[in-house]
Amino acid sequence: MKTIASIAEMKAAVRSARAEEKTVGLVPTMGFLHEGHLSLVRESRARTDLTVVSIFVNPAQFGPNEDFASYPRDPGRDAALLEREGADILFLPAAPDIYPRGYATYVEVQKLQDRLCGASRPGHFRGVCTIVLKLFEIVRPDAAFFGRKDAQQAIILARMAGDLNLDVRIEVRPIVREPDGLALSSRNIYLNPDERRAALVLSRSLATAGAMIKAGETRAEAVVAAIRDAIGREPLARIDYIEAVDPVTLAPVDRTGEGTLVALAVFIGKTRLIDNFVVGPGGEIT
Ligand code: AMP
Repeated sequence: MKTIASIAEMKAAVRSARAEEKTVGLVPTMGFLHEGHLSLVRESRARTDLTVVSIFVNPAQFGPNEDFASYPRDPGRDAALLEREGADILFLPAAPDIYPRGYATYVEVQKLQDRLCGASRPGHFRGVCTIVLKLFEIVRPDAAFFGRKDAQQAIILARMAGDLNLDVRIEVRPIVREPDGLALSSRNIYLNPDERRAALVLSRSLATAGAMIKAGETRAEAVVAAIRDAIGREPLARIDYIEAVDPVTLAPVDRTGEGTLVALAVFIGKTRLIDNFVVGPGGEIT
């Protein structure tokens, strides 16, 4: 695996791969890698000839009171994991190269950026879209791989790619979980043992809601209320939002049906965690 920090060198590496008619896959991450990230690397390796993994803790997607400074970082361990996974290039750009003095250009996906996580994290998706579009320009991937853990992010990025006619396939892969159900996240490291136990309320309440839908419940209000009740019983949990939304507009639905996204964000102590499921064609959840 080659590690590249320079944008010019990254562009050159992809240019020479393309000259050999290789297809390129990109896995954008903020590092502190876990199995969720590695599942995307595996997918990229299976589907493209050259897998580029970027690690960049993007200041533009953090709010002023969020955890940019304390976000976990371990580039040495990340590089070893990626080497073992067979990634071809680790792209580690420096913040002053990505956002040089005078930087002024941002990308916004209207409306979708204000819903769900966007309501409590103003500017977050503007930062995400901006960095991802920049990475697309630098790496020019045929396909880019994202996790459904960040369902709103994947929906917004697919919208951006479609709306701007980008030549990149957005591939969205399933949520990877701990054996007890907790969705893997770099931020899980913040949880103390009591909080780690309390965090199970996210996946468990979603599983309860999923079972209701499978059993025929379609009233979104009832589904959301069941989740709210379950989380309300956990003293360490504070709800940011719980919503059942249309997967295209992200507007709340009255009735759940195929494609409905049921998503939530919950603070466990000071740590904000997210989780979700999508209703499948037969009412099953994924
Ligand atoms: P991050 O490093 O948190 O920006 O995440 C980088 C990519 O990994 C994003 O596409 C995430 O959706 C994806 N990802 C993070 N956690 C998981 C998970 N538990 N399962 C699947 N994908 C994940």
